[in-house]
Amino acid sequence: MTDTTQAQASKFSLSPPYRTPKGVHDILPQDHEYHTYIKKVVRHRLRQAGFKRISTPIFEYTDVFARSIGDATDIVEKEMYTFLDKKGRSLTLRPENTAGVVRSYIQHSMQQLAQPVELYYIEPFFRYDRPQRGRYRQFWQFGFEIIGELDPALDAQIIFLANKINEDLGIEKLFKIQLNTIGSLEDRKNYIRALKDYYYGKERSLCEHCKDRLEKNPLRLLDCKNEDCTILAELAPKMTDYLSKESTEYYRDVKEYLAELEIEYVENPKLVRGLDYYTNTVFEFWDAKDGAQNAIGGGGRYDGLVEIMGGQATPAVGYAAGIERIIAHMKREKIRVPSKDNIHVFVAQLGKEAKKKCLKLIDEMRETGLKTIGALGKGSMKKQLKLADKFNVPYTLILGITEVREGTIIIRDMEKGSQEIVKFDQVIDELINKIGEENLDKYSPGEIIY
Ligand code: AMP
Repeated sequence: MTDTTQAQASKFSLSPPYRTPKGVHDILPQDHEYHTYIKKVVRHRLRQAGFKRISTPIFEYTDVFARSIGDATDIVEKEMYTFLDKKGRSLTLRPENTAGVVRSYIQHSMQQLAQPVELYYIEPFFRYDRPQRGRYRQFWQFGFEIIGELDPALDAQIIFLANKINEDLGIEKLFKIQLNTIGSLEDRKNYIRALKDYYYGKERSLCEHCKDRLEKNPLRLLDCKNEDCTILAELAPKMTDYLSKESTEYYRDVKEYLAELEIEYVENPKLVRGLDYYTNTVFEFWDAKDGAQNAIGGGGRYDGLVEIMGGQATPAVGYAAGIERIIAHMKREKIRVPSKDNIHVFVAQLGKEAKKKCLKLIDEMRETGLKTIGALGKGSMKKQLKLADKFNVPYTLILGITEVREGTIIIRDMEKGSQEIVKFDQVIDELINKIGEENLDKYSPGEIIY
């Protein structure tokens, strides 16, 4: 470490025991049950719809995000974890994934594949946000993108799939879909000009943020939460008055397809989304009670992005949702997910011979799908049985010197407190009978092909 980095490090250094940095958290086993379940739902639904999974690197060149998301957005201005590597290159921990996926689409010439290319991801992201409920500095998102085709039916399809996943997770009723169009790039230019004209001369009534936004990102004036800004936004020109004929028809078709799919939504002319790359359709899933504060996901069409990133002009549409927020909603609704971490059998033993036999037995039990832990340390039988109680197992096997000599083993029913002696060779069959074939956790990742 150089003197300066050491000095900087020591400014924030803490003494053991350490805690996580502000805004980040451990995912403990009880939360992983939710993560696993959500991943399963997402993978299943998207695989069914022909999407393939993609992972881009956790960090990219800063320009990938600055160029795509927009220099004047909150993310790029304030929220990126940006650092120089040892050669002085500017890198950034990804704050979102559309930019990375588009970079990858171009880099790997995916326009040569059958179009549209349908990709999904489940990954952690990083934003230097002010930590609060539902807002972290490292958080997980799943998302999906359809790149390479322009049709309002695809926008409707993305919204439908996002809603389907919410249904599978039991939370769809908690959210209202907010829908808007921000028109083509050309429409937007005209609209922004009209917005600026409207706001010029009214700067004194705007909050400090909005004064700044007026030049840099005027669309964001519409979704400011400040009271005076909200009043001004109400009277501001409406995007719908600046839409071209094509954009108006496009939006009408999106709504028609949503109606066909029986998806309910609310039209929200003030919804603009924070990022520069959107065109036409934008949507968010707002908490029916908290509104935008606790949105779980959002997305839209981004027809200009591939070109901005250096590829051929290619239309695209996508969605991303926050996994921590979904879990918080599921927990608030007392929605439980299946736990697969329960243990079926605890194996207790005494003496070296017994331990040897147990090592083999435990492996054979696991092969059949019996979730088994063994007390292979040196504790007394009493201690081991206490441990079995703590693990909350339904059955404990007990193998002592006598049982080894007689070729038997004891099965203890932990709930009833009763015990039976069975032949050692038959113990696995006996246990499967008790646990039930359908409850076994069989190892089945699919066969590898040589
Ligand atoms: P965005 O692309 O910013 O609209 O993010 C999509 C979704 O990701 C949001 O609706 C949230 O559910 C989630 N999300 C965004 N930022 C954070 C954060 N800092 N902490 C937790 N979740 C977040």
